[in-house]
Amino acid sequence: MSVRAGIIVTGTEVLTNRITDQNGPWLSRQLLTLGVDVAHIMICGDRPADLIAQLRFLTDQGVDLIVTSGGLGPTADDLTVATIAEFCHRELLLDPELEEHIAGIIRRYRPRTPDLDAGPTRTGIRKQAQIPTGATALPPTGTAPGVVIPPVAGDRPIPTIVILPGPPGELQQMWRSAIASPAVADVLTRAEDLQQETVRAYGLHEAQLAETLRRAEAENAGLDRLEITTCLRHGELDMVTRFDSRDVDIYRHLLQILTEHHGHQIFSTDGSTIDDQLVDALDGRSIATAESCTGGLVAARLTDRPGSSAYVTGGVVSYSNAAKSDLIDVPSELIASHGAVSEQVAAAMAEGARHRLQVDVAVSTTGIAGPGGGTESKPVGTVCFGVAVEGRPTYTVTRHFPGDRERVRDLTTTAALHLVVAQLRRK
Ligand code: ATP
Ligand code: MG
Repeated sequence: MSVRAGIIVTGTEVLTNRITDQNGPWLSRQLLTLGVDVAHIMICGDRPADLIAQLRFLTDQGVDLIVTSGGLGPTADDLTVATIAEFCHRELLLDPELEEHIAGIIRRYRPRTPDLDAGPTRTGIRKQAQIPTGATALPPTGTAPGVVIPPVAGDRPIPTIVILPGPPGELQQMWRSAIASPAVADVLTRAEDLQQETVRAYGLHEAQLAETLRRAEAENAGLDRLEITTCLRHGELDMVTRFDSRDVDIYRHLLQILTEHHGHQIFSTDGSTIDDQLVDALDGRSIATAESCTGGLVAARLTDRPGSSAYVTGGVVSYSNAAKSDLIDVPSELIASHGAVSEQVAAAMAEGARHRLQVDVAVSTTGIAGPGGGTESKPVGTVCFGVAVEGRPTYTVTRHFPGDRERVRDLTTTAALHLVVAQLRRK
C-alpha cells in the first residue's frame, strides 16, 4: 500500500491504563477506510522527550502521516503542540483571532468563569491559541483547536502531522475538518481505493482455513494481491481481506473457493454478525434466556443492541438448583436424577423460561465453567443448551469447550446465539 501512517496517543493516564485508549483504535479504523495503511499505534506519557522520540521513530520509518491525540488543554501538562513545534523547528505564534474564538467558547459555556481577561484563564486561552508557523488550526470542538502541520521535504523530511484533542468525542468531531485540510487531503489523494470484506465462520479451525488458502494459492488464484488476516474472536473465525478495488474478481474467486470447502461453517460473507442474524431469524418473535453458567452474559449480549427491547423480553439467572426450580419450574427430581448440568435440565430451563416469560423463543445454558466442579463424566467445559421454540419439540445439545472460566463462559455465550439461529432457520 502506498500511504502509511503512525498514530501517537499521548497521556500518562492511558500509558498507565487508568483509562483505556479509545482514540488509537478509532483513528486506525478511520485511516483504514481511507485506504491508509496504519503502521504503528504508539502510546506516550506526558513527557516531551518521549514524545519527540516517538515522532523521530515514525519519521525514520518514512510514514506519510502522523496523527496524535491528547495534550491540547490549557494546563501546564498539556505540551503536545509546543513539543511538536519544537520537533518541526517551527516557532509558536499567537493567533489573536483564535484567542478571541476560544475566549468566546468559554464565555458561552462557562459564563461565570472569573478572570477571563486576566489571570490563569487568559493564560490558558493564550496557550491554546499558539499555533506553529505555517500550520493550520482546526476549529475547536471543545475549547482546544487542533493543528495540521504540512510536511517538509528535503534532506531531513518530516511527514504531515495532525494534532487532535484527547477527549474521544472532541477528537472524532474534529476528524472531519482534519481530513479536509489541504495537507491531509493531499496525502489522502495518494491513498489507494481499498476495499475491505469480512468472512465469518463458526466451528472452523485456523489451520483448516490456512490449508485451503495455501491450496488456492498453489492453484495460482492471484491471492498475493489480497491482504488476508484471520483472527479468532469469541470462538468465531473472522477473515478480513483488504484489496485494491480493481482486484475484486480475485476476491470473488477466493470467496467461491472458501464456500466450496467450508460452506457449512461460513455463516456470513457480508459483514453481518451472528447477533445481526439472530434478529433477522427471530423475525418479530420474542426471546428470553434461562442462564446458569453464563450468569446473564447471553442476555447482556442480546440487549447490547439498541432497539433490543422490541424482541428481548427478559432473562433469568438461575444459578442454584433452588432458583432453577423456584423461578423457572425445573422439577427438583429432574435435577436430582440427571444433575444440574444435563440436557434434561437444559430443556426444562428453556421451557420454563418460555412459559414464565411468555415468549416465543427461549434459550438456556447450564454447564461447568470451572476451575472446580468437573467430574470424569462431566469435565470442566461441559455445557448443555436448550432451545425452546413455540410449536416445536425443544432442542438440546451438549458441548465441550476448552480454556479457563472466562473463555468457557464466552464460548458458551456465542454458541447459544448460533444454536438459536440454527433452530429458528430450521424448516
Ligand atoms: P483537555 O482540554 O480536556 O485537557 P486534552 O486534549 O489536553 O484535553 P488530554 O488532557 O490528553 O486531552 O485528555 C483529557 C481527557 O480525555 C482524559 O482525561 C480522558 O478522560 C480523555 N482521553 C484522552 N485521551 C484518551 C484516549 N486515548 N482514550 C480515551 N479517552 C481519552
Ligand atoms: Mg489535558
